[in-house]
Amino acid sequence: MTSFQDFGLADPISRALAEENYLTPTPIQAQTIPLALTGRDVIGIAQTGTGKTAAFALPILHRLLQNRIKPQPKSCRVLVLSPTRELSGQILESFNAYGRHLRLTSALAIGGVPMGRQVRSVMQGVEVMVATPGRLLDLVQSNGLKLGQVEFLVLDEADRMLDMGFINDIRKVVAKLPIKRQTLFFSATMPKDIAELAEQMLRDPARVAVTPVSSTVERITQRIIQVDYTSKPAFLAELLKQEPVNRALVFTRTKHGADKVVKHLAKAGIRSDAIHGNKSQNHRERVLAAFRSGEIRTLIATDIAARGIDVDGVSHVINFDLPNVPETYVHRIGRTARAGADGAAISLVSGAEEMSYLRDIEKLIRVTLPREDRRTPGQRDTAPAHQQHRAGRPVPHGHATRAGDAAPGGKGPRRRRRYGKGAPQSNRPETGRHEPSRPSKGGKAEGMQGVAFLHRESRPRPKH
Ligand code: AMP
Repeated sequence: MTSFQDFGLADPISRALAEENYLTPTPIQAQTIPLALTGRDVIGIAQTGTGKTAAFALPILHRLLQNRIKPQPKSCRVLVLSPTRELSGQILESFNAYGRHLRLTSALAIGGVPMGRQVRSVMQGVEVMVATPGRLLDLVQSNGLKLGQVEFLVLDEADRMLDMGFINDIRKVVAKLPIKRQTLFFSATMPKDIAELAEQMLRDPARVAVTPVSSTVERITQRIIQVDYTSKPAFLAELLKQEPVNRALVFTRTKHGADKVVKHLAKAGIRSDAIHGNKSQNHRERVLAAFRSGEIRTLIATDIAARGIDVDGVSHVINFDLPNVPETYVHRIGRTARAGADGAAISLVSGAEEMSYLRDIEKLIRVTLPREDRRTPGQRDTAPAHQQHRAGRPVPHGHATRAGDAAPGGKGPRRRRRYGKGAPQSNRPETGRHEPSRPSKGGKAEGMQGVAFLHRESRPRPKH
C-alpha cells in the first residue's frame, strides 16, 4: 500500500499532513499525486468525498516550493476553478491547511460578496487563487487580476460547472492563460461534453478514475415510493417520524417547493429549514450551522444550494422530487453513507414524468430499483399538468435494495432541464449561476464571513 512518504513531498507539507492525521492516501490521491508531481496534465474522475482536493493540492504545493518565486502584483501562480462558493471556500481551506508551514499566500474570489475586498486581496499577487468562474472573469475584466502568470490550473467538479452554465466563462478564462501550464481536471462524471472540454484544455493528459459512487451507492439503501402527488408532503412528514433519522437532507426541484415543504412539515410538528438561491448567504450559513450542530435535523434544499455542502452524518437523503438529470440523483444520494457509514435514499415518485426520470436514473446506475406503491387505489393522480399520467400498472411491493455495480460512467442519456419559458419563475427548477455574475447587476452584499462553517465536524447526536 502506498503511504504519503512514498511521494517524497517536501517536508513542510508532510508535517502538515501528519498534523491533519492523513496517514494513508485515498485511491484518487495514490493515483494522481505521483503523476501530477511529474508535471503531467491529469484528468480525474472522482467525486467530492474521495480526497480529491488533496490529490491536486499536494503536488501543486510541492511544485510551487521547488521554484518559489514571488508572484507579480495582481497575479496568481495557481488558479483553481470550482462551481460554488462553498466548495471554493473548502478548497482554499485545504490549501491553507496543507500549506500551513509554507507561509502560503492565497485568495478567494467568489460571487455574492462585494468585489472590493477580493481586488485588494490580490493586489500584491498571491500564490493560490480559488474562484468561481463568473467572479474570476469579473475580476479579470475589471483589471483586478492578470492571468499571464498562472502555472497551474485546476478545474474541480467540471460537470457541475457545465451544468451551472459556466462553460463560456471557463472558455474565456482559459483563453487568457499561458499555454505552458499544468492542468488538473476533475469531474464526477465524464459525459461527452465534459470529455470534449477536457480534450481542448489538456495536453496529453494522464487519466485516473476512482469509482466512489459505486462504492458509496453500494452502502446506500435505495427506496422508491410511488405516492399520489398531493400526498407527498404528508408522506414525507410520516417518513421523517418513522425513520431513524439522524440528519435528513430533503431535495426539491424548485425553491418554491422547498419553502412549501418547510411549511407543511411545520404543520406536522417537524422543524426544518430550507436553503436555496433566494435565501441570503447569512441565512444559509445560519441554517447550515444549525444542521451541523443537530439543532435542526431536516434540511430542505435545491440541488444548486446543496452543492458543496459537506456534512457528515446525513442518515437520510429524501428526494421529494426526482431530478430530471440522472447524474443529479447520484450526486444527491452520495450525501449520505459518507465516511463508511450506511445511509438511506428514499425517493417519492408520482406521475409519468417522474417515472420517466426514474427510468433514466436506473439506466445510469444500472440497477432497477423496486417500487413500493403507496398510491390511493383508484384515485386519479392529481399531479400538475406536466406530471399528469394515467395510473400505471402498480408495481408489486418491493424491498429496499442495495445497488450493485452502480457506475455512472456517463452512459445514460444526459438531459438538459426541460422547463418551458412560460413556467412561473418560482416553479422552475433552480438552475443557472449560483453567483451574481456581474457586479453591475448588484450582487447581494452578505459577506462570506470566513469559511468557518465549512469545517468538518465530529458528529454530535442531534436533539430531537
Ligand atoms: P475531498 O474529497 O477532497 O472533499 O475530501 C474529503 C474529506 O476527506 C476531507 O475532509 C479531507 O480532509 C479528508 N481527507 C482527504 N484525504 C485524506 C486522507 N488521505 N486521510 C484522511 N482524510 C483525508
